[in-house]
Amino acid sequence: MGSHIECTKILGLEGYRVKEIMFDGTGNQARLRIRIERRGVRGHRCSGCLRRCWRIRDAKDRTWDDLPWAGYRVTLVYRQRRVQCMTCGIRTERMSFADSKARVTRRLRQLIGLDCQSMPTSHAAVRHGVSWGKARRAERAFLETWDISRPKRRPRHLGADEIQRGKGYRFWTVLSDLVRGEVWGLARDRTEASLEELLTNCLDARQRAVVQAVCTDMHKPYVNAVTHVLPKAEVVFDKFHVLQHASAALDEVRRKEFFRAGNVMRAVGRGKRWLLLRRWRTVRGSKRRELQELFAANRRLFKAYVLREQLDHLWTYKTRTGVLNFLLSWFKALRWQRLPEMERLGDFLLTHINGIAAFCDHAVRFGVVESVNATIKGVIRRARGMRDERFLLLKLKWATARPVRSARDYARFLDAEWLHSNR
Ligand SMILES: [Zn+2]
Repeated sequence: MGSHIECTKILGLEGYRVKEIMFDGTGNQARLRIRIERRGVRGHRCSGCLRRCWRIRDAKDRTWDDLPWAGYRVTLVYRQRRVQCMTCGIRTERMSFADSKARVTRRLRQLIGLDCQSMPTSHAAVRHGVSWGKARRAERAFLETWDISRPKRRPRHLGADEIQRGKGYRFWTVLSDLVRGEVWGLARDRTEASLEELLTNCLDARQRAVVQAVCTDMHKPYVNAVTHVLPKAEVVFDKFHVLQHASAALDEVRRKEFFRAGNVMRAVGRGKRWLLLRRWRTVRGSKRRELQELFAANRRLFKAYVLREQLDHLWTYKTRTGVLNFLLSWFKALRWQRLPEMERLGDFLLTHINGIAAFCDHAVRFGVVESVNATIKGVIRRARGMRDERFLLLKLKWATARPVRSARDYARFLDAEWLHSNR
């Protein structure tokens, strides 16, 4: 073996030097076992209070997985002391390169954690030659350290939304920062209490004070929770949820028309449900012709479709009176059409006009709401049966915050200095 001084330099663990290097196994399983020792004698730090201690009780060999050297996986071996601390009693010595009880060094933990964000945990585990459990623990520690180190933002706009959990009638409530498009909190239900708890736990008093608007769907418990916890904030109804109600009304019209229709309508209308629910501007070419045929066969369906398309204009107004006037004229157009489903929709919109028109004062970014939802669904689908809620929340935070956007960000997560300052 070459000079240990050079090996110490390559290993690059501050305060430790290489004492011995052994080869272990051959081929794919080849490992380097590097025995390291503390440099200089300056006592040993107690893992409880971080103070230096000189009284050593006993010592035991411990191993940590570390970054590979060329083709070799690396195991660090160190004789870890147990110290007799004046304040804590018997404690193990604190290691500067690894968390207590961790089986991998902190820099390997960062690498595994970062990899786990773009590949399955099992894949990352194989790649770094560690067990699945080790990789999962490393990922968790990685995400937790990242989460703690983040600055506390004070967003103007929040979003509270429900996400379906599994196949049954079970939901998550998700709280997010709509200015930056990041998830903040996750609760198991969609009750008033769960959102209240989220709003009080995820935000401190200073953060709550600056919230101007909360974007939700028209779920009553959410509205109650917001008015209760954030009396100064206004509720803005999510555009896409409002339009979802409009599409549901249109679908209802379609079902009725199809039911009482003759042969012509049945022939034209069969299998057109999804086409009909699409927006006109997203329909192109032959599909557009199909829709036109359908409308030619049934005027009422056409009317309902146009009415739904017009609702888009609700969000183009700058004043609340503008919104109200538009809705009233929309009602007028509805008058002699005999479309009870659309009339019901109109009543529904009128009772929720405040939340819809609140958009004029608070320009909530609805696109962000949608993109956050899409990201959440993606993460949940990829995670399949993730039982650990806290872990899922960390994954969601990472996926929506997207902290790695450049080579510099990437390097920051692997940087040894940042890791030390973070401890
Ligand atoms: Zn101590």
